[in-house]
Amino acid sequence: MERGVQVKRGRGFGVKNLGLFNLALLGKWRWRMLSSSESLWVKVLRSIYGVEAVVRGGLVDVECFKKGSSWWRDLGCLCNRDNGFNKGWFNEGVQRRVGSMGEWRNGVWCWLLNWRMSLFLWEQDEVNVLLNKVEEVSLVHGNEDGWLWVNDKNGTYSVRNAYKVLQNEVRNDNYLHYKRLWTSMVPSKLKCFAWRLFVGGVPTRMNLARRGNIGSLPSTLCAFCGELEESSDHLFFTCSLSYSVWQKLYSLFGIYSILPSSTGSNFLSHWHLFGEAKNFHQQWMTIWFVTIWSLWLVRNKIIFDESSFHLDEVMFIINLHSWNLLSARFKGFSFSFLEWVWNPSSCISYNSHRLYG
Ligand SMILES: [Zn+2]
Repeated sequence: MERGVQVKRGRGFGVKNLGLFNLALLGKWRWRMLSSSESLWVKVLRSIYGVEAVVRGGLVDVECFKKGSSWWRDLGCLCNRDNGFNKGWFNEGVQRRVGSMGEWRNGVWCWLLNWRMSLFLWEQDEVNVLLNKVEEVSLVHGNEDGWLWVNDKNGTYSVRNAYKVLQNEVRNDNYLHYKRLWTSMVPSKLKCFAWRLFVGGVPTRMNLARRGNIGSLPSTLCAFCGELEESSDHLFFTCSLSYSVWQKLYSLFGIYSILPSSTGSNFLSHWHLFGEAKNFHQQWMTIWFVTIWSLWLVRNKIIFDESSFHLDEVMFIINLHSWNLLSARFKGFSFSFLEWVWNPSSCISYNSHRLYG
């Protein structure tokens, strides 16, 4: 019986992952919008949302995003890497073939860029930089301008091909994350929260807006800085304030590093930052889970209790939760809170030494 239900890894039962399949179907709309730009429905969209929004895929500015239908907002997220799991995959697979901004002279392509206004002197330097960059692009004689789906040998988008691309992305990028996430030694509550963050399910203001819960929101701006949209990646990693938390935290462990801006890569980067010796690694990973959880608690406190962001307070919360959890979960971790705050790095390594040395 057991044999009967065994599944070969990576093959499954052949049942489609509906979430991915829907994304691939949504991509088809996006592809048609680019490749049939003269059809009536695309012209209608251009008149509603503007030319730039249609070319860039929805997320040009928050107003355009807000007034759109849920279909339009989903399309926007398809093209924007900042908005969680599997988002932005479409734009990464599409390239533009351009031939209307220059001409062939004796078999050599010359760029002829027409500007709407005459350029200032200082802008000329920027144009030269641009020309240097575009010179690297080799154009093919006789090819029509258009859009190219790079994942297909004929350059054309198909749902079948996009589904394969998405499946690979899930397997390659996320299989490792999930495996490491679920085997971590933190309470289920923290694992579940991290998992929601991985799949773009934490109710940040942008996620709420995307689901259509805009009416109840005062704004979609980040609760910490109030300057940029509150996507998951922004709130937890790239916001200048949460970034300062990560930097402060790492400095306590003597680590100075530029940090990745998405959940998955931040998680993997943390995994490698403090060595991977088995005896203290689970303790080190505990700190990652506690940090994202604490950032979320602080963010909610700011919104619901109208408090404000203070780096020292956030660090205190992270220190306290980490110390509580490490004391409860790891035998031999018997340091006082003061010892922990004073030198967390040596607490973790000394503790491992005592346990296993
Ligand atoms: Zn922010």
